[in-house]
Amino acid sequence: MDLGAGICRPKAPSCSSCPISSHCDAYARGEPERFPVKAPKKPKPTRTGVVFALINGKGEILFERRPDKGLLGGMLGLPGTDWLEGQEGWAAGMGDAFTKTTWKKTGSITHIFTHFHLTLEVYVGVAPKGFRRSSNQQWIAPAKARLPTVMKKAVELAAKG
Ligand code: SF4
Repeated sequence: MDLGAGICRPKAPSCSSCPISSHCDAYARGEPERFPVKAPKKPKPTRTGVVFALINGKGEILFERRPDKGLLGGMLGLPGTDWLEGQEGWAAGMGDAFTKTTWKKTGSITHIFTHFHLTLEVYVGVAPKGFRRSSNQQWIAPAKARLPTVMKKAVELAAKG
């Protein structure tokens, strides 16, 4: 007999037809619907990061292909920092082209992933003279870029900036 599926249903247990009711604490307490008690959900951590919308003279934005493995693997996105808990500052590790650009912060977007909340600061800048993209980067008109939702939000915010 499948006690869990047929008799001891979480929201409507049939205690009167249950063969083990004489051994059941929940039944003895007179409140079988309260059990099993669900553990409270752990709050999701919040990660933060920064993305950069670099714009060229044609109004295209510099996108880059994310690594195949990992979150949003193989998808297009804006260049940016890693997404980490408790990080501050962004210039470190972003490379010369980025540190030579004058960036304007347009605001932040938020997105909820399965295991964490993400807050991304979005900066906009104009590509400096002589800027050379990396091999995994490409200039694309924003309307033509196929992006995951989180990056769509970032690009929409950048477009307002
Ligand atoms: S008596 Fe206990 S085990 Fe049986 S149906 Fe009720 S709550 Fe479930």
